[in-house]
Amino acid sequence: MNRIYLDHAATTPLDNEIFEKMRPYFTQDYGNADSPHGLGRKAMNAVDEARDSLAAAIHAKPNEVYFTSGGTEADNWAVIGGALAQRSKGRTHVVLSAIEHHAVLHAGEMLKKYGFDVTYLPVNKGGMVELNALKALLSENTALVGIMAANNETGCLQPIAECAKLTHAYGALFFTDAVQYAPYLPMDVKAWDVDLLSLSAHKFYGPKGAGALYIKNGVKIEKLIGGGEQERGLRGGTTNVPAVVGLASAYLKNKATMSEVNTKLKTLREVFMQTLSTLDGVAFNGEEGLFGILNVRFQGVLNTDLLYNLDLQGVCISIGSACASASVKPSHVLLAMGLTEEETRECVRFSFGKDNTEEEIVFAANKTVEIVRRLRG
Ligand SMILES: *Cc1c(COP(=O)(O)O)cnc(C)c1O
Repeated sequence: MNRIYLDHAATTPLDNEIFEKMRPYFTQDYGNADSPHGLGRKAMNAVDEARDSLAAAIHAKPNEVYFTSGGTEADNWAVIGGALAQRSKGRTHVVLSAIEHHAVLHAGEMLKKYGFDVTYLPVNKGGMVELNALKALLSENTALVGIMAANNETGCLQPIAECAKLTHAYGALFFTDAVQYAPYLPMDVKAWDVDLLSLSAHKFYGPKGAGALYIKNGVKIEKLIGGGEQERGLRGGTTNVPAVVGLASAYLKNKATMSEVNTKLKTLREVFMQTLSTLDGVAFNGEEGLFGILNVRFQGVLNTDLLYNLDLQGVCISIGSACASASVKPSHVLLAMGLTEEETRECVRFSFGKDNTEEEIVFAANKTVEIVRRLRG
């Protein structure tokens, strides 16, 4: 059966060219990047080159880029490490948007155990945070604010530069989870003026288990992983050289093609939406943001039924985030946007990628219409 993959927000396939760039560092150039011999230096050169090129691409300096085991680690490090470092200044309050990824929300839960106060910034019906609401939560006690650049369930884009500016007026650190934003739009950490920013390679056709945290020079955060002196002494563990090479080269390749891909995704998304709009009782959730993500509610249809039926046709989609799907908990993102629990169970996410064809999109949209009609009886 031909698979039609419409779940790019969960993960993307590793680009073959990126895989080939990683390959030598698994086999012939396997040195430990910290070893003081030829093979070690070869590995370290590859890591340095990856750090330099990734930093340049996001307008950071090389010593502001720290490699991690993925987006989840980078998120945990930013939230927990950032807040703990601020505690020495007497700040014990953290603000996280209500629509953050579980990696950020669960890090917030851990902070509560360490005595922090965590409050959640609401979003409006369109899935957007509002500056007035953020201002109402900030105080001289605020240690850190975390607001994602683009939401992984709806694709909604948040006003990062404005939120960072407001946060800084209260002397707190500003962190943005840019994992879902990075695949689609160019980033400039200086223009946003964020203190901390997370990335993950497998959302832009790189390998899983590879991520990065940008830490602005001068910003202090506690380390979470002790060990060797890797990553400027802030993150122990033998450097995963193939992962680092894959992360940087995937970011650069994806960045070079994203504008062209966006034009294509915009068309695919419109074609898809037009076909779905032939049904009654269809609503698109959230203000328009990333062209790659479409969150849809089909009134009267259970999302798990739609997912399983599309899967039988070879079409891969998701219910909210990949992490939530297994537990089938109602989406905290859609709840925060004001949907009822029952309404959230009628919502699915389609996420498109660079290799999807119009033919696939038409097939998937027609199958969706057919299945929804059948399930509604
Ligand atoms: C996928 C994702 C993460 C987690 O990244 P991993 O590399 O899978 O750990 C964090 N935040 C957002 C917004 C994501 O989409």
